[in-house]
Amino acid sequence: MSQDKDLTCKECGETFVFTAGEQEFFQSRGFSEPIRCKTCRDKRKAEKAEQGFGGGGFGGGGRRGW
Ligand SMILES: [Zn+2]
Repeated sequence: MSQDKDLTCKECGETFVFTAGEQEFFQSRGFSEPIRCKTCRDKRKAEKAEQGFGGGGFGGGGRRGW
């Protein structure tokens, strides 16, 4: 059984909880542990969304399909 886990955000240094449910979700997807707290992740997402496409060519992180 998983347990909630305290992780430290690499970005802002805040401690955040990586819940058991999230751990299971991450594991089932084959993701490794998050390095940023939710706030920072949301911020990044928002920034990315603002930039739209244009910044990085391909690989915007979608399976867009054809
Ligand atoms: Zn953070």
